[in-house]
Amino acid sequence: MKLFALIDGNNFYCSCERVFQPQLQNKPLIVLSNNDGCAIARSEQAKALGVKMGHPWFQVKHLEKSAGLISLSANFALYGDMSNRMMSLASELGDSQEIYSIDECFLGLQGIPDVTQRAKDTRAKILQWIGIPTCIGIGASKTLAKLANHIAKDAERKPGSYPPRLAQVCNLVELTERQRMYLFGITDIGEIWGIGRRIGQQLKDAGIKTVKDFVELDPGTVRKRFSVTLERTWRELHGQSCIDLEEIPAPKKEIAYTRTFGQPVRDLVSLTEAVTEFTSRAAEKLRRQQSFASAILVFIHTSKHRAGPQYARSITVPLVRPASDTNSLLSAAIRGLRTIYKPGYDFIKAGVILMDLSTTTVQQIELDFGSSMSNKADQLMQAIDQINSQFGRGTIIYGSTGTGKKTWSMSQQRKTPSYTAKIRDIPIAVG
Ligand SMILES: [Mg+2]
Repeated sequence: MKLFALIDGNNFYCSCERVFQPQLQNKPLIVLSNNDGCAIARSEQAKALGVKMGHPWFQVKHLEKSAGLISLSANFALYGDMSNRMMSLASELGDSQEIYSIDECFLGLQGIPDVTQRAKDTRAKILQWIGIPTCIGIGASKTLAKLANHIAKDAERKPGSYPPRLAQVCNLVELTERQRMYLFGITDIGEIWGIGRRIGQQLKDAGIKTVKDFVELDPGTVRKRFSVTLERTWRELHGQSCIDLEEIPAPKKEIAYTRTFGQPVRDLVSLTEAVTEFTSRAAEKLRRQQSFASAILVFIHTSKHRAGPQYARSITVPLVRPASDTNSLLSAAIRGLRTIYKPGYDFIKAGVILMDLSTTTVQQIELDFGSSMSNKADQLMQAIDQINSQFGRGTIIYGSTGTGKKTWSMSQQRKTPSYTAKIRDIPIAVG
């Protein structure tokens, strides 16, 4: 039998912030999206105040005064770095790992003894070494591991929802069939991994309200009335593992970099700066996955929510041949921008999308007609990427990024320092 674990960081962004500001423990805390728009992470105390996921900041701002709600701008450099640390400790639990999102990973546990105790030890180690509280679910399939994780989480934060001994670490494999069915009977169908809101509603309309109702269906009926995908979910819940770990993420088919500006931008110079930065960042990602782009799409638009004339345009600029160096991508992007730009508008958003990506191996055949230019460009890009990763993003920039104040940059008024990712932000103990 296969065995999987799912480790998930609790309220991850909030937990990252609390590691460096312990005074935020037990306080209602939210993290805001880019440009401080809406809540993208909430502490348990903030949830208790009724703040919803995606709640616009201006609608909950009054809670700052009345209930002590604290809000912070998203600090993705910090969260990404804390995630790497968490994932490397988490990997010690199993023999294989799939990083599923910034705060979640699956682990393969085949042949590993004492998994429950090991999971408890791993959880304690992550908490002690990096300060992030986690919950771990264990099951015979990825879908069951996900469900077990949900039980472990709710048992901890909602007393009375599930038996308290399942809090933090829940191993469904250790339970009897009767105990498992009891848990399935008190779990809403919507909690099943892969059952979205629409299918969940369809099932509920058909009287299938709990996980127990669902697993008691006949698999043939599930396939006929719903889909093969849902039948696969049914099998997974019966402990037949159908979804394997994906240890190596598939390379992206498109790479996008888009941002809403902190304030409207009118002039071509500022837009060029923004598009230069976006293209440089997208190109860096492109090279990291060793791909080449055949075209680049550039777009700019005004905001429908603002008064004044509206304008939205995009353009796809094909490249003479697939490229991954910032020079080629940038000259195409800027050419595109100049074509679509019109003066007299308040632009609020811009972006670039690298399209029609191919891999290096396919590319090399074409490169064989021996352009020493592209070799040199290659070396230059490698050098730039290495310097920027070693000394911090922006150490080497393209001139058209500009060096003055960026009117187009995001407004993030409540951002904490990058404690773990920037040398000048390392916390210093005083006293
Ligand atoms: Mg989480």
